[in-house]
Amino acid sequence: MSINIPQSSLPRVVIAGGGFGGLKLAQSLDSDLFQVVLIDHHNYHQFPPLIYQVASSGLEPSSIAFPFRSAFRKKKNFLFRMAEVEGVDTLRSVLITSVGEVPYDYLVLACGGTTNFFGNEEVARHSLPMKTLYEAINLRNILLQNIEKALVSDDEARRDALLTVAIVGGGPSGVEIAGALAEMKRYVLPKDYPYLDSSLFRIHLLDASPRLLQAMSEKSSETAARGLAELGVEIHTGTMVSGYDGKTLTLSDGTEMQTRTVIWVSGIVANTIEGISAETLGRGRRILVDEHSQVLGLTNIFAIGDQSLMTADPKYPNGHPQLAQVALQQAKFLAHNLKARLQNQPESPFRYRDLGSMATIGRNRAVAEIGKAKWGGFTAWVLWLVVHLRSILSVRNKVVVLLNWIWNYVTYDRSLRLILKRNVPVEPYHQRLQRELKERPHDEDCPPHK
Ligand SMILES: Cc1cc2nc3c(=O)[nH]c(=O)nc-3n(C[C@H](O)[C@H](O)[C@H](O)COP(=O)(O)OP(=O)(O)OC[C@H]3O[C@@H](n4cnc5c(N)ncnc54)[C@H](O)[C@@H]3O)c2cc1C
Repeated sequence: MSINIPQSSLPRVVIAGGGFGGLKLAQSLDSDLFQVVLIDHHNYHQFPPLIYQVASSGLEPSSIAFPFRSAFRKKKNFLFRMAEVEGVDTLRSVLITSVGEVPYDYLVLACGGTTNFFGNEEVARHSLPMKTLYEAINLRNILLQNIEKALVSDDEARRDALLTVAIVGGGPSGVEIAGALAEMKRYVLPKDYPYLDSSLFRIHLLDASPRLLQAMSEKSSETAARGLAELGVEIHTGTMVSGYDGKTLTLSDGTEMQTRTVIWVSGIVANTIEGISAETLGRGRRILVDEHSQVLGLTNIFAIGDQSLMTADPKYPNGHPQLAQVALQQAKFLAHNLKARLQNQPESPFRYRDLGSMATIGRNRAVAEIGKAKWGGFTAWVLWLVVHLRSILSVRNKVVVLLNWIWNYVTYDRSLRLILKRNVPVEPYHQRLQRELKERPHDEDCPPHK
């Protein structure tokens, strides 16, 4: 059954996923030439680079989310439908969604990725991912709730475990959440919990590789490690996690750590779509595409951003990094190429232009690399602030985020520390896990704490 979409004489481009890639593509397509149908299971676009600030109570969720309907209010021949993308029938040219089928002339898959637990179901069940707004709110709740529980506990070992946070993954997300939590420990906990010895709140950052921020230079990596260590973060590089049962985090050398909060920011795997054959999937389940972002072997289906793997760009023979800029640039390119295809003009091959990378380490500290230039400390921090503020969608969100940052900076405080636990929606993956968890005996300290 097809879903209700007005007929048009224009060719229809259906975009699955309204993240960085999908949103930019929808904005860039010429609305005189195409009817654009955007499908997402949320009714808003989220801004992942600041998700860690929601998780650490620095920003409200609404300040980094923007409703699609507002974003496209003035765009003609544009339709948004909220639905779960389930599969594609390539023979009939229809996208299969939770609310019905959507016929397409061109289909663009831009569903991004999800957390990679590397097949470890136990870790997946008990640790806390941080890729979506839902997950960030859930993480915030658990962090704050564990502090409340620790405050009333007279069992020393349990209290220590409740106050121990282990972050697995030393990439930008791990570094940023570690820095934010370390600042919370330093500036917020002594004020909010005067009867709690805040030195008991311990933050461990673990990574299997020999250094943090593997994708950046050794210099930036050292700056980040030094900054975090000064903030009291305990760094364990060259350390692999082998298991976590909700109470004990086990490392591959057999060492054990008692903790009720394990934040898993260690990997990404592309979201899958039924109907895209396994032969078309590359590393990390990413859909293999040619240099025009066209899915290999399929003429009118494209994939962009984190969900795609393009090995035809000479500088990136193993595929592009899974970054916002890649998704944005591919989206702009595809908009241009679809127009060219429609007008029988030659299409251009995609070439990624690296605009640099950066990560914050906390107040006044960040690392940034643009080309050969490298910054650390205050300059990089200001650069980080400007770049992120500029990238957030909508003037309202920019203003809200800026005001929050100024408030946090001046008062050394964080705006939101509410435990909003009831009715927190969960992602489908976690719904499945929850069903499985119902069979387990009740244990109030074991995540997932839904
Ligand atoms: C915590 C975090 C921090 C990050 N920080 C940075 C950073 O600082 N700089 C940087 O460059 N990159 C950063 N990234 C990576 C960056 O966000 C991604 O590379 C980028 O979002 C990829 O864009 P995309 O369009 O491919 O996918 P996404 O932006 O992930 O968008 C995917 C969209 O598809 C929708 N979707 C998924 N599955 C379905 C389905 N089955 N049905 C319907 N809709 C679906 C989702 O709701 C989402 O809107 C970060 C990522 C995370 C998670």
